[in-house]
Amino acid sequence: MSELNLILLGPPGAGKGTQGDRLKDDFGLPYIGTGELLRKHKEDGSELGREAGGYMDKGELVPDELVIRMILEEISDKGAEGFLLDGYPRSITQADALAAALEESGRRLTAVLLIEADDDTVIQRLSGRRQCVKSGHLYHVEFDPPKNKDGYCDIDGSRLVQREDDEAETIRRRLVTYHDKTKPLVEYYEERGLLRRFDGMREANEVHDHVRATLATLRLEERL
Ligand SMILES: [Zn+2]
Repeated sequence: MSELNLILLGPPGAGKGTQGDRLKDDFGLPYIGTGELLRKHKEDGSELGREAGGYMDKGELVPDELVIRMILEEISDKGAEGFLLDGYPRSITQADALAAALEESGRRLTAVLLIEADDDTVIQRLSGRRQCVKSGHLYHVEFDPPKNKDGYCDIDGSRLVQREDDEAETIRRRLVTYHDKTKPLVEYYEERGLLRRFDGMREANEVHDHVRATLATLRLEERL
């Protein structure tokens, strides 16, 4: 079976996490989120983790070379059939470094899956989220409101609040950063014929079907 070496790209609120979870289940691919990976290494006190921790404690960026070593280690441990990489690369320099490192280990990217949604939809989806103060149960004012009493948790009756991260202004700022950083990467992967676009405005199930169909076609093409 050919490998599925995938990168996930997309703004917050476009459903990247949901699709990532499903692909993990569909194909048994390890999900590699670089934030989690760094935390895990730091907690485990691995050699890479200690090195990275030194930078993190000083509030400095962890060098690409270290992050890539962590990613490759994860891939060689769990990624015999492929992987789902999320949160990396974030720049052309990192994309080049990743391509070179993969090539050295005899692999290459299969595709970059870009799940798109327009800013207004993202803001509507994220800013409508509410969380109960007691246990963190999640609701959405529009798509999944509480059934018993407006503004209160159905399960424990505690008050529902909006997290700071979900405030429209915060989301707007995150989206500006996202677009700045992602645009050059999208062009980079498009030029290399690796980019596949998906409409994150559609229902999660529809997006999932489309992603699966695309990956099936890619696998067929690889065998030819
Ligand atoms: Zn609750």
